Amino acid sequence: NDPGTRPSGTTAEAAAEQVAADFHALYGAVPEGVWAAPGRVNLIGEYTDFNDGLVMPLALPHAAVAAVSRRDDGRLRIHSAEAAATGQGVVQLDVTTLSPGSDTGWAAYPAGVVWALREAGHAVTGADVHLSSTVPTGAGLSSSAALEVVTALALNDLYGLGLTGAELAVLAQRAENAFVGVPCGVMDQMASACCTEGHALHLDARDLTRRQVPFDLAAEGLRLLVVDTRVKHALGDGAYAQRRAGCEAGARALGVRTLRDVPYERLDDALARLDDPTVRAYVRHVVSDNQRVERTMALLDAGDVRAVGAVLTDGHASLRDDLRVSCPELDLVVSAAVGAGALGARMTGGGFGGSAIVLTDAGLADKVATAVEEAFVQEGYPEPRVFTAVPSAGARRLR
Ligand code: ADP
Ligand code: MG
Repeated sequence: NDPGTRPSGTTAEAAAEQVAADFHALYGAVPEGVWAAPGRVNLIGEYTDFNDGLVMPLALPHAAVAAVSRRDDGRLRIHSAEAAATGQGVVQLDVTTLSPGSDTGWAAYPAGVVWALREAGHAVTGADVHLSSTVPTGAGLSSSAALEVVTALALNDLYGLGLTGAELAVLAQRAENAFVGVPCGVMDQMASACCTEGHALHLDARDLTRRQVPFDLAAEGLRLLVVDTRVKHALGDGAYAQRRAGCEAGARALGVRTLRDVPYERLDDALARLDDPTVRAYVRHVVSDNQRVERTMALLDAGDVRAVGAVLTDGHASLRDDLRVSCPELDLVVSAAVGAGALGARMTGGGFGGSAIVLTDAGLADKVATAVEEAFVQEGYPEPRVFTAVPSAGARRLR
């Protein structure tokens, strides 16, 4: 029952050989290379990236691992071990006829990256791709960005495109926005492409400036638990776009380009100028969450990691009460964890299900995890999946 010893995803390095062997069995040739790109949890700064704001994600050990070879005949063949387990075989496409919104199912994520690279003028003439991922899907841990970034990095290396991690992340975001049709911000792709082991990534979504912030939990005797509630409420589908529209309405009403241009020190003035109570609440969340990112960075710089707990719990209250993107299961993780002595907790990712994070003394981690699990049993919720988040490496070539 120790969250530290529960399965936390095979490391990408250990999976590389199997993925290469499966590629060989599938396509009849050794792959030119194998790459990995991780999922992420966001420590703080939620619904801020599309407002040109601040975020602070860290990469998980869970990753998408892809074996890839070039082709020069325009064919794109894509295969996933996890999709295969549900009966889906190789998806065959033609790079010259890829178009946004074409119904390619899960393969839209990697295919969208090929489309975005070609749209940007890069001569990608085809590929064979086989991938396998340990990132739980739809759990708010960014399995989609892992798929995109691993594809982008592989093609960047194989075709000698010379793009940076940040440039690949922006192209991957374009793939998800324009090709797949999901209006996400840039955090997930930047986290997967640019995070480094032992650090949280302080990212300014306005200009993509970033700082690797040392985040050594073990040295402080602390643990960051991820609790995947395994629920996904249908409500979440339209909610993201609705929150985005509300934030844009707030920026318009305040006469600024984005909510990033509202300084925290002027928040009360700004709120007083907004008539719509919903928009006012969204603005309060976004501006205060930017401030919570800055506060978290200052605390980490000062070595006061424990104090980050209270910032997380404040952030949860803001997401629950102002942005209204939480749900009973996520609220229960937070109340049960804090009730059992955790330093703080909050939902992470888009909400309406998915995952929460909990910062706790390592010595209390078992007790906290058990308290959450028992609270879920009590409410008749599905059994949550609890694991320890170890700040891990971003996208990289494995072989
Ligand atoms: P999240 O990114 O939070 O996990 P999304 O809804 O953005 O959730 O992305 C999940 C989707 O990504 C899945 O429904 C599937 O289409 C695709 N996906 C993720 N991992 C895999 C995989 N290993 N194989 C095939 N498709 C995957
Ligand atoms: Mg996603």
